[in-house]
Amino acid sequence: MIGGGDTGSDCVGTSNRQGAVSVTQLELLPQPPKERNESMPWPSYPMLLKTTTSHEEGADRLWAIATKAFLGDANGALRALQVVDLAWSFGADGKPGSFKEVAGSEREIPCELALLALGFTQPKYEGLLEQLQVERDERKNVLASEKNYQTSIPKVFAAGDIRRGQSLVVWAISEGREAARQVDLFLNHQHSLLESKNAPLILNSKV
Ligand SMILES: Cc1cc2nc3c(=O)[nH]c(=O)nc-3n(C[C@H](O)[C@H](O)[C@H](O)COP(=O)(O)OP(=O)(O)OC[C@H]3O[C@@H](n4cnc5c(N)ncnc54)[C@H](O)[C@@H]3O)c2cc1C
Repeated sequence: MIGGGDTGSDCVGTSNRQGAVSVTQLELLPQPPKERNESMPWPSYPMLLKTTTSHEEGADRLWAIATKAFLGDANGALRALQVVDLAWSFGADGKPGSFKEVAGSEREIPCELALLALGFTQPKYEGLLEQLQVERDERKNVLASEKNYQTSIPKVFAAGDIRRGQSLVVWAISEGREAARQVDLFLNHQHSLLESKNAPLILNSKV
């Protein structure tokens, strides 16, 4: 598993449940502290060591380590990862700043399957978005107003991760409902019976 975040943690659990003989999770960053320190005063969000129920199912967790290459066998199947340890420098704020590879620490970790959980950057542009020539924001998500969920292309609406970036299921549900109402308003000349955060049916109905 390459990546030490929440998705990596999900993959650790799933790998164990699928019968992996052993699971190793590699993280580029150094191991975070278990408790708040001066670099994360309250009420800032603390970057603390998280050990999830998936981790408790079993995994070797390696920190401050980078993957340099995927090594294959004669049949082209993955046999190992080539990795190197990293020495991190910390900024004045106590947060990890930059890193250097530790000379002589290169080594191989035997591996039959590598899962990449390295973070979400942006929705795929090639294909649908490129063909539509839809406008995107500075983070390369589809530009659509939270007011009406309309994109720069008439009659094309966007909601969820593609609009707000990587997020949560609750936001996907909420945006889906709000966008549905906006589509309904658009099609029905500004009349809609669909519920919205700003127009809850239960408050508007006379029971
Ligand atoms: C590994 C992982 C773990 C996560 N864990 C959590 C969690 O624990 N809790 C939480 O709240 N959130 C979690 N999330 C985030 C959550 O899954 C997303 O925020 C949510 O699914 C976004 O919903 P969406 O409908 O916007 O997009 P998606 O769920 O990504 O749905 C988009 C759909 O569109 C389809 N699609 C793409 N292109 C086209 C096309 N051209 N034509 C037709 N269909 C197309 C895709 O196949 C996909 O089915 C996780 C995400 C990942 C990747």
